[in-house]
Amino acid sequence: MLLVCICVFYRYIIYLHIVQVGGMVLRNDTSSRKSHVSVCVKFNEWSSFPQLDTFDSQRLIAALTAKNELGQPYLWTSDMKSGSEPQEMPAVALQQAEAIFNLSQLMFALYHGSISACTFRDLQLSQPPRDIRKHGFIKLGNNSQYSGTTFRQALHVLCWEIAENGGLPVIFSMMRHPKLPIIRQKCLDALTNVLCVDAIEKIILTRQPWFLRMLVAMVASGDLQCDMVPAVSVLDRLVVVVLAERMQDVYKQLIRLKFIQVCLARLQCPSLSRPSLHLHFIKFQTIAMQAVALLCAEQQSSTWPEEVQDSVFQYCFHSVLLWDTDKPPSDPVWHQSESFYRSMSFSSSTLLFSFVVLVHSVLKWPKKREFLKREALAFKYQLSKILTLHSYDAASSCDSNTPVIMNAVEWLWLTLYNSDDCDTFDTTKLCPSILDPLPELCEKVLRYCSNEGCRRRENVANQWIICPGCSITCYCSEQCLKFHGVNGHDPRRCSFLSMSDLEQQPLEAAESNQSA
Ligand SMILES: [Zn+2]
Ligand SMILES: [Zn+2]
Repeated sequence: MLLVCICVFYRYIIYLHIVQVGGMVLRNDTSSRKSHVSVCVKFNEWSSFPQLDTFDSQRLIAALTAKNELGQPYLWTSDMKSGSEPQEMPAVALQQAEAIFNLSQLMFALYHGSISACTFRDLQLSQPPRDIRKHGFIKLGNNSQYSGTTFRQALHVLCWEIAENGGLPVIFSMMRHPKLPIIRQKCLDALTNVLCVDAIEKIILTRQPWFLRMLVAMVASGDLQCDMVPAVSVLDRLVVVVLAERMQDVYKQLIRLKFIQVCLARLQCPSLSRPSLHLHFIKFQTIAMQAVALLCAEQQSSTWPEEVQDSVFQYCFHSVLLWDTDKPPSDPVWHQSESFYRSMSFSSSTLLFSFVVLVHSVLKWPKKREFLKREALAFKYQLSKILTLHSYDAASSCDSNTPVIMNAVEWLWLTLYNSDDCDTFDTTKLCPSILDPLPELCEKVLRYCSNEGCRRRENVANQWIICPGCSITCYCSEQCLKFHGVNGHDPRRCSFLSMSDLEQQPLEAAESNQSA
């Protein structure tokens, strides 16, 4: 089940969007910016700086975390947006925007095991993707072939460096005062990856409780493409860590925020299933259903209110019934530039998640087995049809979800219609990824010692000590902790990284969405 990959597919669409917005105007930068930057290319709404037109991650991180007069990374603030156009923004902020854009493109490529990506400027100028290694990215080395692990490690190192260098408070400040929706999307894209580092995810969730509220609000009432898809991608990532690390407080917050009901309401919202939105809706549906299925598969779903269990069950039950078995789930027709993702089976993933929910509803929730067994004749008929489908043969299908779906169908058939009534279930024949989808979605990120003179790497995730002040920087030994504390990681730096000073209020956009 290569499911977690879907989390980031929506990004490609954003690029198309910005190219459309961009209607390019090239002219010299004549404004009197206080920065030292001399030449930048201006597009209608944004600027591009030649030195940032790169995949050199060191340089991009340096631009993202550029220091202000106080020696700390520059943060975006509310007064920056008081009626000013993006053109009026300080050069440092414009550079941070371009840096997060290109870092996010880079992470997207690494996530998908690709060596090519477009920079912000490439997209503005409709240029083809370039080789990231020939344009500054050195973490892959210069081999001709790479394994998935190599890409993953390079991605993890990059994510860790962004966090360690103070990128997170910057990204959060940009997300609060984004100037353009694209900025917030790019920040969420970046966070989807950076939050793979579970230690960092914990810090954010405990220190910035508004973040979860904002994400759920974006799903509840945001725009499908600009808000819902990026927000649900981050939420899906968060759900994995919350469940894997048993973060009970955050779990309860998700339940209180009615995350599941919010997803179901949006999934069934007629205005979102318009043909023009199809691609985005399929993405939203796939990602949201992954998060919902993970929550259902977990033990605690048996304690949910019955009406929540019922509504998830009904949605999945109907998804299976409505599936046209004469047409096995296939990929939607992508825009030409998305041909790369054609092999991804969005709709078959959604079908698989529906089956995961149904299996767990039979295993854990009251009355569901009885209902399927005694009252749902159409369901029985549908399963029997799937079992005899020639076009849906598990062995010959090139869709990796097919064997797993077939496993769920066979198990349901045997359990519901071909066995004695008993209270125990034989789960030994179920695919591990149906019984517990969580383990294969968990990422273990190995960090480097934050003491620049050391830079050893962990052998096991979360093996080393962290700075007691910020909980971000990480050390292989007490000596390295002490040494770094005296040389570079001073109390002001530590306090900045801890994000304890960041505003605690939720985003305006999310608030207005909530009240709408
Ligand atoms: Zn060390
Ligand atoms: Zn610290």
